[in-house]
Parts: sequence; structure tokens; C-alpha cells
Amino acid sequence: MPEPADPILQVALPLPLPRLFDYAAEGAGAGDVGRRVRVPFGPRELVGVVAATGASDPAAPELRAILARLDQAPLLHGELLESLHWLARYTHAPLGEVLATALPAALRRGEPLPDTHSWAWRLEEAGATGFTGLRAGSRPRRLAELLRDGARDEDALDALMAGWRLAARALQRRGFVDRIAVPASELAPAPQPGPAPNDEQQAAIDAIAAEDGFAPMLLDGVTGSGKTEVYLHAIADCLARGRQVLVLVPEIGLTPQLLQRFRARLGVPVHATHSGLNDGERARTWAAAWRGEARVVVGTRSAVFAPLPEAGLIVVDEEHDGSYKQQDGIRYHARDFALVRGKALGVPVVLGSATPSLETLHNATSGRYRYLRLSHRAGAARPPEVRVVDVRKRPLDAGLSAQMLEAIGAALADGGQVLVFRNRRGYAPVLLCHDCGWSAQCPRCGTPEVGRPMTVHAHGRRLQCHHCGHRRPSPPACPDCASLALQPQGVGTERIEEVLAARFDGVPVLRIDRGSTQRRDAMQRLLGELGAQPGILIGTQMLAKGHDLPGLTLVCVVGIDEGLHSADFRAHEKLAQLLIQVAGRAGRAQRPGQVLLQTHHPDHPLLATLIDGGYHAFAAEELAQREAAGFPPFAHLALLRAEAKHAGPPLAFLQAARMAFETVRGPSSGDDAAPALSGPMPAPMPRRAGMHRAQLLLSAEGRRTLHAALHAALPAIHALPEARKVRWSLDVDPVDL
Ligand code: ADP
Ligand code: ZN
Ligand code: ZN
Repeated sequence: MPEPADPILQVALPLPLPRLFDYAAEGAGAGDVGRRVRVPFGPRELVGVVAATGASDPAAPELRAILARLDQAPLLHGELLESLHWLARYTHAPLGEVLATALPAALRRGEPLPDTHSWAWRLEEAGATGFTGLRAGSRPRRLAELLRDGARDEDALDALMAGWRLAARALQRRGFVDRIAVPASELAPAPQPGPAPNDEQQAAIDAIAAEDGFAPMLLDGVTGSGKTEVYLHAIADCLARGRQVLVLVPEIGLTPQLLQRFRARLGVPVHATHSGLNDGERARTWAAAWRGEARVVVGTRSAVFAPLPEAGLIVVDEEHDGSYKQQDGIRYHARDFALVRGKALGVPVVLGSATPSLETLHNATSGRYRYLRLSHRAGAARPPEVRVVDVRKRPLDAGLSAQMLEAIGAALADGGQVLVFRNRRGYAPVLLCHDCGWSAQCPRCGTPEVGRPMTVHAHGRRLQCHHCGHRRPSPPACPDCASLALQPQGVGTERIEEVLAARFDGVPVLRIDRGSTQRRDAMQRLLGELGAQPGILIGTQMLAKGHDLPGLTLVCVVGIDEGLHSADFRAHEKLAQLLIQVAGRAGRAQRPGQVLLQTHHPDHPLLATLIDGGYHAFAAEELAQREAAGFPPFAHLALLRAEAKHAGPPLAFLQAARMAFETVRGPSSGDDAAPALSGPMPAPMPRRAGMHRAQLLLSAEGRRTLHAALHAALPAIHALPEARKVRWSLDVDPVDL
């Protein structure tokens, strides 16, 4: 029996239960908050983080004791811990799950904070003399030659040479090279100067430097206007003041090209973190940031959780990008959380984009954010010329009009490179029976009312569902009428590749989509092999951003018409951003660029506005429509989703949840103080991977109203008997409805 006032630990565990768990611990005290502990939980052992300390309740049964403290000092403390508390309140998620999301997997499992020196490769005596015996031009030979100028760290090698690891291991076996641990700072090259900023860039650099404390800023600059140059100057200023910088980039934007540019220009090691790294590497970057050794951290979404004990600046590049929103587990938005952290840290947060999200644009034009603009392309590059190609009643070859094929031929003859953009991978979107109208549907995703066609792949031999991944061989004959007249309908990237390769014989044709570039560096390798020679790139939105393709003179956009008619309230915003970003790939260097937009709807207002007035004209119109319809940024949304094997339970759960919201609304608060409820209704995809899905939408003019309702109703919703029959989740600020 513990003494009446024995101190106890209140531990946040990674469990879907909105509470902390009490444990006894020898010498428990305030210094334990933020330390990880290993605890018994039922028959299991879990790793949690001490969230608070308290006094034991003498009336309660005896507490179980923790098994071990895992950290000498608090791992989470200060600003980061406070910001994560905020995130738990904002997402209405258990603190334990939020903390588990924020920690790299290795630390979440309880591993110790890793060593943070970096690894480099050095040429040994034997290698310095023996390398001439290696086959000229082979990878081992090229690697040995690289290392003759001095040891290189592994990040630098990643940027310099594809496939260097295999070569390094081969050389190591012969005693030619060795792997050595070095303090990161010793490896940094001397910084290289960049181009002199133009007036607009200088104004933006000065505006950022002038901020001393939290300041949200939008850097709104057309593609190729030199936003990255502005970041680099702002980062250098910040480093010179002895402060750390966090740079968030979209999943696709974090290329070796970008890291190379940062490393070369800044003259300090740049710590990268993204989903392509293994657990150990990610934990090392986190630890280096925690120790203040990492001065510049560049990473994708989850890098927003990097500890920044000496923060000076946060940059969010391509702030409109969809990859910043986590779509499962804790559904946080990295851009929004970056702003929260910037405020808590008291540092400027620069959001950059050529196509800012409507939320951010609204904040900038209404004066809540500083608004910095770069209105023209930097250096010699000119904006591309955009032309609409009306293809109504015109014959198409694999979806390509004669006019487009001619333009491609002309651009190639002129020595240029061509990008054909089609946001559908595979060979064709549908396999149709010409005799009876049967089409191949996914058995796991379709419903009798709404079918989900399977995409045709591998020149017609295979069918694949892009929603659940289900695959099967194409049937040899129609399952309904036995006809052999099965025909792929419509055009995907594979089919365009086939047609263009046949038509432009001898010209390299590269397809870049998730099918062709499974591995992270595959796209880089493909683009490297193409080099500056004339050629054709065919791609999905993977090609729309990130990569500087200086030889690109023509961009052909095919088949965007689906996006014009989508029901999602964000569909037009996403389409406009995609079109501007793809178009922005053209003519980024000396050669002028041209963009051809092929459509059956040349008079669609979205296209007309975009082409005549550009993104900002579109955005102004779209914002007016959002305001009239009561959608974000003029309203705040939360979406309750539920799914189950059968169609009934999700609807029953959401109906009960709706009742819970109506109950807490109460008579006194008045109707206008409560969020509007719509649903339960089937999800936009009512069935996926065998699960029936439904949703309930909450919408309120004020953020506070929304959160008050969630806070009041969620305990009852957690306790609903219907909740046990479904998988459910809450998404605050959902991006897909
Ligand atoms: P963004 O990030 O806006 O797409 P970048 O910073 O990548 O633009 O710049 C686009 C290109 O223009 C790059 O090749 C860059 O080196 C070049 N550039 C940027 N600023 C200048 C400048 N002031 N003078 C000359 N070239 C510049
Ligand atoms: Zn048939
Ligand atoms: Zn499916």
C-alpha cells in the first residue's frame, strides 16, 4: 500500500484512448516530464512519455510500477512538448498517439537517442595507388576518383552518384576505401556564391531579415521567380546569427538536386529527412536537431516535428502541396503546425508558392500574413506562352491531337525536350466489351450503384485497381457474353508512351510515374540519363514540380477534363495549381517555353480565367464562390469518417454521433453557435478495399464553435456502443471531403 502522497507518473501511451495512465515510480518527480518510460500494460509492455506527475489516490488499488526510464534527461520539453500538447487538443487526439507520431520510429520503440556523427568514405593507401586497375568508367572507378579529392560524407555521395553504396562495398572488400565517423561540421564545403538577387528578391530577403519574432509571411512568386534563392539568403542570414533553420518541402520536391543546391550554397551540413530513409537515419537527424548540431534540417511532412532548440526560421516550400496533410492516424497539416511552432518559438515562418492555397492567400490579402511577391521570372527566363487546343470533333491518336503531335515534332527538331502531362497512369482507364458493354470493375471497391473500373496495365495484359491495389490478369474473353472484343478505353501514360515511341523513332521517350519509378532515386536516374539531348518525358503529377529541366521547351497537357467536373470543393483549386505548376516547367532557362492545353471544354470558365488572368484571377473568383457557399477559408470543417465490412454499422454509428452533437448543442447556446451537421452520407468512394464507408460533416463559421462542439461531444461518441462495430476517425480541417 503506497503512502497517501506518493508521487506518481502520468504517462501518455500510444493508444486510442483519450487519457493518461498512472504508474508508480521510485523517486518520481517533475524532472520526469518528457522522459520516455517502459511500462507494463495488461500482458504487454509499451513505451510512453511522462506527461505529468501527480499524487497517488490512497483509495485506488495499488498502481503498477514502470519498468524503466529510457532517457537520462527529458527527450521532449519546452516548445516542442507544448506545441504537441496544442496539436493533441486541436486534432482531438490522445496525447500519447500525437507524441508517438512526432517521434521517429526508433525512438518510439524505446531505442536510445542515437549517435549523431556522420559517416564518410575515405580512399585508403591501397586505393590511391590501386584504383587505376579498375575498369575505366565503372562505378567503383568513378567513386575512387571522387574520393581522391578527399573524404565525402554519405549524403554528399547520395547527391553525386547513383548506386555508390554497392561500389563502395566492393572497394571496401579490396581494402581500397574505408567508412569513417566524422563530426558533421568538418565535411561542409566552402559556401559558393549564387546569382545577385534582383530588386524583388532583395526586398523579400530584407523583409524576412527585418522580422524579429514570430511573423507569418507568404512568398508568392511565379514559377522560376527565384523563391529558392530568397530562402537561401534568409537561411544564410539565420545561420550567421547562430540559429537553426527548418525547411519543409513536398514529398516530390525533396530531390538530390535540391539538397545539392542547399549544401553547395550554405557551407554547412544539411540534414535531410524523408520517407526514403531508414529508421536509424531518421532518428539520427532528429537527434542531431535535438542536440542543436543540425543547423539546417530539410525534410518532408514529418520533419515539422524536428526539435529546434535554437530556432531562427521556418520555411515551407510549395505550401499549397497536398503531401503536407497526413491522411491517416493523427491527421495533422505540417504547414499549419509549422505556423503554430513558429509562433511558439518566436521566429518568422515563410510560406512559399507560385500557387498559394486559398487559405494562405486569403490570410495574406487580408493582412494577417506579410505578403511578399516575386512577379517575374529571375534571370533570363521568360514566362511560357500558353495555348488552348480545342479537340472537339478532332480525331485523336492515343488521346493526342494532330496539332499537338506536330508541335512535339517541331520542338524535337529544334533540339528541345518535351513534357507530355497526363494525370492517369497505366495503359487505359477502362477495359470495355464492345459487344455487350461489360467493363472490368474492382470487386473490392465498386458497389452495385457505383462501379470502380480497374485500370488496364501492361499493354492490356493486366488489370489493377488504383484505389486498393487489387490486381488480376485481363480476362481473355468477356465474362458476360464471351465475346473476344474487349477493348481498352481511354488513354493512360503507358499508352501515350507506346504511341509516341512508335511515332518518334530514335528519340528517347521516358515515362515517369509511380509505375515506372518505384524507387526514390529512379526518376533522378532517368532524367540524368536523358541529360540535355532532345527527348520526350511522359508523366503524371510527379513531374509537375521539383525538378529543374532546363532543356524543356514544350509542355503538352492532355486529358485534364475530368478535373473540371469533380464534385470535391477543392477540385478546381487543385486543378488550377497543377496546371500552373506543370506549365511552369517549360522554358525555365534560356530557351522560351510553350504550353499546349488540349481540352474538350475550351470555354470552361476555369480555363478562360487561368489563361487570361493567371492564378490570382482564378483565386479571386474561387474565393468569392467559397465565401458564397460557406466553404473554407470562410468556414471551418471537421469530418467524422466510419467504415466497416457491411454498409449498416458506419451509418448507425454516424447517426448516433449526430445525436451526440445535437444533444451537446443544448438549448442555451442557440443554434447559430453550433456547427451545421450534414450526413451521415456515403463517402465519395462508398466502398474501398472491401470496406463500406460513410461520413458526417461539421461546418462552423468560427473555429472556436467547431472545437467547442467536438470537445463536448467526443467523450460520448467514444463511448457509443455503435463505435465498437466500426473503424472511425476524426479529421479536423479535412482536405478531401
Ligand atoms: P523558384 O524556387 O521560384 O522556382 P529558383 O530559385 O529555383 O526559383 O530560381 C529559378 C532559376 O533562376 C534558377 O536556375 C536560379 O539559379 C535562377 N535565378 C534565381 N534568382 C536569380 C537571379 N537573381 N539572377 C539570375 N538567376 C537567378
Ligand atoms: Zn461482353
Ligand atoms: Zn479496388
